[in-house]
Amino acid sequence: MKVTEHIKKANGKTLFSFEIIPPKKGKNIRELYDNIDPLMEFKPPFIDVTTSREEYVYVEKDGLLDRQITRMRPGTVGICAAIKHKYNVDTVPHVLCGGFTREETEYLLVDCHYLGIENVMALRGDAMNHQKYFEASEGGHKYACDLVKQIRNMNDGKYLHDVIEADHKSDFCIGVAGYPEKHLEAPSLQSDLKRLKEKVDAGADYIVTQMFFDNSKFFRFVEEAKKMGIDVPIIPGIKPIAVERHLQILPQVFKIDLPEELIHEVEKCKTNAEVRQVGVEWCIKQSKELVDAGVPTVHYYSMGKSSNIQKIAAAVF
Ligand SMILES: Cc1cc2nc3c(=O)[nH]c(=O)nc-3n(C[C@H](O)[C@H](O)[C@H](O)COP(=O)(O)OP(=O)(O)OC[C@H]3O[C@@H](n4cnc5c(N)ncnc54)[C@H](O)[C@@H]3O)c2cc1C
Repeated sequence: MKVTEHIKKANGKTLFSFEIIPPKKGKNIRELYDNIDPLMEFKPPFIDVTTSREEYVYVEKDGLLDRQITRMRPGTVGICAAIKHKYNVDTVPHVLCGGFTREETEYLLVDCHYLGIENVMALRGDAMNHQKYFEASEGGHKYACDLVKQIRNMNDGKYLHDVIEADHKSDFCIGVAGYPEKHLEAPSLQSDLKRLKEKVDAGADYIVTQMFFDNSKFFRFVEEAKKMGIDVPIIPGIKPIAVERHLQILPQVFKIDLPEELIHEVEKCKTNAEVRQVGVEWCIKQSKELVDAGVPTVHYYSMGKSSNIQKIAAAVF
C-alpha cells in the first residue's frame, strides 16, 4: 500500500514508522533483522531504507595507496524486498540523484516495480565526503525535483526512451525531504519552502522532515508550508540523542539547533547510559506533543539500532 493510503486508512490516528540503514558490505543482514524484530509490535505501516553515497577508500597496491570509489552500504532495494517479504510490511527505498545516471535510476525503479514496492523517497543526496558541494553525476539529476519528475513520468508510462510502450505502468507514491530549520545550502527558509513546493508541484505525494529537537520549529514549518500552498502530508522525522558527541555532530552535519534545556541535561550526565536516558526522555516528550498535534506519523531515525526507539515507542504508541 502507498504511504498516503496508510495515512488515510489510519483516519487521524498517528502512526509509528522508522528508517534503517543497510549493513556495511560483507556484514550479515541478521543484525538488521535483530533490530527490526523488537519494533514490529508497534505495527509500522512502512519502513524506510536509506541509500548511501559512494565514497573513496584507499587500497595498498605495489607499496602505494590506490584511491578507489565504492558504496560501503549497498543493497537498499534488496533489503526493501527482503523486509517486505519477511515482515509483510511496506518498504520505502531512498532513491538518490547523486551517484546515479537517469538510466540507472530507471533500472532501479523497474526493479522496485517488479518487486511490488509502491513507495519511493526521492532525494538529491549529500556531497561526497571529499566534496565541499554536491555535484551531479554525468547523466544524473542535479535536484530532487528532477528525480520526482522522472518517477512521475514513469508512472505516466513515459520512460527515458520514447520507443517504450508501457502497458503495465508503475504507480509509485513519492516522498520528498523537508527541512524545518531549512536545508543547509538554502539562503532562507522561505526560499527552501519554494523549492519544496516545486517538488510537490512536480508530483511528490508526501514530505518527511529532517530531524529537529524543538517541536515549535516543526509546527512553524508546517504552517509556513500550508501558507505556501503545500497540502500533502508532512511527516516529522525525529531521533533520540544517544551520545554526548551528538551535541557537536548533529548541528555540524545537519545545521540544526539543539534547545538549551536539552544541552544542559546532556552536559549534566556522567555516563553514556545517562545520556541515552536523557535522549529517550526528550524524544518521548517530543513524540507525545507531536501525536497530540495530530501528525500523520512519527518517523524515527533508528540508525540501525532499535533499543532506544523501542523504549520511546512503548511510551508513546
Ligand atoms: C527524510 C530524509 C531522508 C534522507 N535520506 C537520505 C539517504 O537515504 N541518503 C542520502 O545520501 N541522503 C539522505 N538525506 C539527506 C539529503 O540527501 C540531503 O539533505 C541533501 O543535501 C538534499 O536532498 P534534497 O532531496 O532535500 O535536495 P533538493 O530538494 O534537491 O534540495 C537541495 C538544495 O537545493 C536547493 N534547490 C532545490 N531546487 C533548486 C533549484 N532549482 N535551483 C537552486 N536551488 C535549488 C534547495 O533549497 C536545497 O538547498 C535524507 C534527508 C531527509 C530529510
